[in-house]
Amino acid sequence: MTATALRICPFCEATCGLTLTIEDGRVTGARGDREDIFSAGFICPKGASFAELDNDPDRLSRPMVRRDGVLTEATWDEAFAVVADRLGQVIGEHGGASVGVYLGNPNAHTVAGSLYPPLIIRGLGTRQAFSASTLDQMPKHVALGHMFGSPIAFTVPDLDRTDYLVVIGANPLVSNGSLATAADFPGKLRALRKRGGRLTVIDPARTRTAELADRHIAPRPGTDGALLFAVVHVLFEEGLVATDLGGIAEYVNGLDDIRSLAGGFSPEDVSDHCGVPADDIRALARELAAAPTAAVYGRIGTSTVEFGTLGSWLVDVINILTGNLDRPGGVMFPLGPAVPAPRPPKAGRGFKTGRWHSRVSGYPEALSEIPAAALAEEIDTPGEGQIKAMITIAGNPVLSAPDGDRLDKALDGVKFMISIDPYLNETTRHADVILPPPPPSQSPHFDFALNNLAIHNNVRYSPPALPLDGRPDEAEILSRIALIIYGIGVDGDPSLVDDQVIATTLAKETADANSPVAARPVDELTAMLVAGPGYERRLDMMLRLGPYGDAFGARPDGLTLERLKAAPHGIDLGPLQPRLPEILRTPSGRIELAPEPLIADATRLRESLGRDADRFVLIGRRHLRSNNSWMHNVPALAGGTNRCTLQMHPDDIAELGLADTAKVKGPGGEVLAPIEPMPGIRRGVVSLPHGWGHDRAGMRLGVASAAPGVNVNQLNDGNMLDPMSGTAVLNGIPVDIAPAD
Ligand code: SF4
Repeated sequence: MTATALRICPFCEATCGLTLTIEDGRVTGARGDREDIFSAGFICPKGASFAELDNDPDRLSRPMVRRDGVLTEATWDEAFAVVADRLGQVIGEHGGASVGVYLGNPNAHTVAGSLYPPLIIRGLGTRQAFSASTLDQMPKHVALGHMFGSPIAFTVPDLDRTDYLVVIGANPLVSNGSLATAADFPGKLRALRKRGGRLTVIDPARTRTAELADRHIAPRPGTDGALLFAVVHVLFEEGLVATDLGGIAEYVNGLDDIRSLAGGFSPEDVSDHCGVPADDIRALARELAAAPTAAVYGRIGTSTVEFGTLGSWLVDVINILTGNLDRPGGVMFPLGPAVPAPRPPKAGRGFKTGRWHSRVSGYPEALSEIPAAALAEEIDTPGEGQIKAMITIAGNPVLSAPDGDRLDKALDGVKFMISIDPYLNETTRHADVILPPPPPSQSPHFDFALNNLAIHNNVRYSPPALPLDGRPDEAEILSRIALIIYGIGVDGDPSLVDDQVIATTLAKETADANSPVAARPVDELTAMLVAGPGYERRLDMMLRLGPYGDAFGARPDGLTLERLKAAPHGIDLGPLQPRLPEILRTPSGRIELAPEPLIADATRLRESLGRDADRFVLIGRRHLRSNNSWMHNVPALAGGTNRCTLQMHPDDIAELGLADTAKVKGPGGEVLAPIEPMPGIRRGVVSLPHGWGHDRAGMRLGVASAAPGVNVNQLNDGNMLDPMSGTAVLNGIPVDIAPAD
């Protein structure tokens, strides 16, 4: 029997709506949902491969437990008993603070991954928390925190209304966008051109997005911070700063400071360093200032670099100076449906990093996280506070963090390791217990994080498309681990975890005079929540307390989970709206254009201008059929352009006398990679994608292992970081290139 079910795609940040075909109890196909209010039928090859990913025979269906050194299948009861026993032993002997937790970025794409890991980290009381954020977007968080007082006050380009878009270090035609949730990003860029708008792309490679642009600027990798500072310089020097900053000057501190700082970064000062003619930088600044509306959007190429936080900050400094912050067509603050309803403007506590430091290298925490680059040393360096046990949730840091070889060895040394993961991969092969969550078809979907990055406010929910195949869902798996950590025991009722969160949240809300449920009885509100699994009750609570919610009956037309379920294609919540000054939480209650920590770090950037250029610099890249290391085990996605090759300019290849394969040597090691001539890449720049290197023993990744590629992150020895955010340098690594022999 054939049926269909609607499901938001969990494979990238675009959150497209899918229509799944279901036959004989399994998903057999996926196409775009034309009625989806956000994606309107758009789909890419990854979403179209939902069935293959869901049915991948290498997905684990039963837990694995290490016995006599060998991972073997076990029942769920056996596996949880081992977790209770062994994790309990480590906590009893060394304390919860000795347990390290690593969260991979698929957690942002699952309900359970969004709701439960914070409870586990809090219950352990550990400061050894790591995630893919310090391999990705942490610089943006830190910059936002210092400027706006909230590290999650994301600014996104208003793609549907802008007249001029500048894309730096991103290739949305291939990635479909990131930190700007926009289904059919490619279509939106084409629509921009069609309505007479302009597109500038800043990228060392002539990417597919650059091909579409009116202007392509190809700087040396890692120099975006200097280039952006020069744009700021021109805006001041040529009197191009927007009058009254486009109407928000009353909320902005630090204009004189930024003017004075930018004085040391004229286009002529930075031109050689960036490898960009000064005239091109001046033209960019003039175009930005002249456009009726404009948005500067920076992504991974401005983030995972030596000056990642400075670059992320300067992106929004330019948006502010050109009068484009918080206005239609510029960059705006989305308002997601599951965040607390906005409160009246007020001064906040501000944002700080470095409230504690990592044990071995003394890196400052950022958002309560230690850099992923420090994970190996925190495990393999003896001493007080050493990590004794690890919990990894949907993460593969052996491939995604720097110096995976060291981490690979270090993980063998922990006393106990649990992985909540569907695959036996490069990281989970070290686990003592692997707990595989059900496939996406059996899991619910709600974008707790990505809704707050959407370029158009919306809300959608997908209940599980198929019933569970007999195993617990991911919420129950994580809840049971939480019950062990909180001392309740593995046999406790998992719903206790959700009940506790609901009770705590409602107590806080009802005590807040500005809450939509101020002074109401908690019991009354709890009784109004939808009946169903704990995660649905929590989601219902969050929606009802949120900006569009029914405030538990006080706004009868407002959002509830029941109402959302009655709209299976989603609910359009309208275009982005201005949110200043309500969103600000700095101590001054204003935007800090020139926060002191960033001003201080600008000196480091200034000093870098005189540095000799490296002969070759490595950058990464995204592929349409891949997302990090997730997609390499699906035959339908393993071919085409999704290949782990070293892209190089043909003239560089000829000059070095290279044949088919090159040796790439970086500070952390060397790899051999097949060469792919790429006329569009800047000379002196080479590109290898990340997430590859599936060549270790003891995994169950049949397709990926057959074409393993090489692990590019091995080239960073773990010491190359953006010091402001602790984010690993994964773009702009100096390398030597030589013939393979
Ligand atoms: S663009 Fe992203 S969300 Fe959309 S179908 Fe592709 S992988 Fe899924």
